[in-house]
Amino acid sequence: MAVNKLWNPLTISIIKKNLTKFHLLQDQQNYFLFDTENLSLLQLDPLTYAFFGELKNGNFDILTRSASAPLHADPSLLKLLTAEPSSESPSPINIPAPATKNVLERLIIHISNSCNLKCRYCYAQQGNYGQANSLMQPETACQIIDFFDKKYDHIQNIQFFGGEPLLNPSLISTICHYLEAKTAANPHKDLPRFSLVTNGTIISAEILHLLKKYQIHVTVSIDGNLAITDYLRGKGTYHKIMGTIKTLTTHQLSFSIEATYTRHHLEQKISLANLMDYFYENLGLHQQHIPFVAVPLTDSLAIPEEIRIALSQEAIGHSLNSLKSKRYVMDSTTQRLLKALIFKKPTLLYCSAGAATLCVSCQGDIYPCFMFNENPAFLLGNAVTNDLANSKLSRFSNQLREVNTKKTTECQHCFARQFCFGCIGNDYITTGNLTERPHCHYFKQISEFFLLNCHKILADPLTVARIYQLLA
Ligand code: SF4
Ligand code: SF4
Repeated sequence: MAVNKLWNPLTISIIKKNLTKFHLLQDQQNYFLFDTENLSLLQLDPLTYAFFGELKNGNFDILTRSASAPLHADPSLLKLLTAEPSSESPSPINIPAPATKNVLERLIIHISNSCNLKCRYCYAQQGNYGQANSLMQPETACQIIDFFDKKYDHIQNIQFFGGEPLLNPSLISTICHYLEAKTAANPHKDLPRFSLVTNGTIISAEILHLLKKYQIHVTVSIDGNLAITDYLRGKGTYHKIMGTIKTLTTHQLSFSIEATYTRHHLEQKISLANLMDYFYENLGLHQQHIPFVAVPLTDSLAIPEEIRIALSQEAIGHSLNSLKSKRYVMDSTTQRLLKALIFKKPTLLYCSAGAATLCVSCQGDIYPCFMFNENPAFLLGNAVTNDLANSKLSRFSNQLREVNTKKTTECQHCFARQFCFGCIGNDYITTGNLTERPHCHYFKQISEFFLLNCHKILADPLTVARIYQLLA
């Protein structure tokens, strides 16, 4: 085929548009083209890689020279380059049409503004968010439920939070029971799923009964071995938490763990990958969520960005390498990246705070997420007084939409825009404002590493089938 005849100005302009969605990556042996819109990864030979590099650098003369040979050799590449883009390119992200049902994915209810621990890194000022210690009252809880029940057709998940929510177990019973009665009386309503996040130091027969009765999923916080956990969360906590986990296991209750990784781990020479192995070996948990500590960069427990990148890359590599083995371990970042790539499902929001997630304080104040709880700058309204400060909500929502839907110019040109995710609460704690993006460099580095290292996994149908099974 006489390829040269194709290079008319219209085709060149299509190629220019298409090129904006391709991202080139290489390591010492491998060369890839990543299609950022279709989330597909194509391995190239060095010559073709160099050819695409020239085009990305704006050298279109190369099309009319013999160096365009890769296109002769592989018609699918020609098609890739010259296919008419389906919409304006680069598309920021494909946001689906709003669902007809008004659904809130997660409502976080702070049933306790008190805590029995004093963790070193607590972002909630030892559980009370700078307010007086308090527990949510039953009347307040019912008013909150009434407010959100009226506002939403369905709430998918209600998460009991604190402070330490298990300091107020009767309130869990009140809320679950109240919701059960409400949904029984209304055939159009479904009962939400329930979950709770606990420091794992409180357990009783009453609590076990509740967990079982309402099938409440429990997330237990534990930061590592005895020395690490007791250092970060207080002396004696490790044994109590392990006791709770044993009880949950014995009663076959659904639970997961969350560990906070800090500079202290690093000083003790425990990497993220080591921590994953520790939880697998001691608790039998394959999938784990181990976020970095949310503290200002000047805090003694903070971890410099380059070290976070190296730790996360090691954890991703460890997760991918273990996938063929029965003893696999997988961190939550690798899980999300694999899901995006295998199921071709873009991550629509950078963070769900204020969009798919809302949180409500002990007094009924509404905030975008627990990371903003009791912060007057982020108060959206009050569920008890039935007041949703619409002007504030819309001002905040606009700001959030800009950040969360990846519509900034930088995002529009970023290869990670279809699958990046972060936490605006964490970003806010780190930088003190909402619009700075401290996470981007880190995320781009770890996702490039992921893309470069997942091709062997994705090339093996048996492993892909296994990932389907694990992550579906
Ligand atoms: S258990 Fe949670 S709320 Fe309590 S001090 Fe620790 S981090 Fe803070
Ligand atoms: S990594 Fe940063 S720049 Fe890239 S899409 Fe995500 S938020 Fe935007």
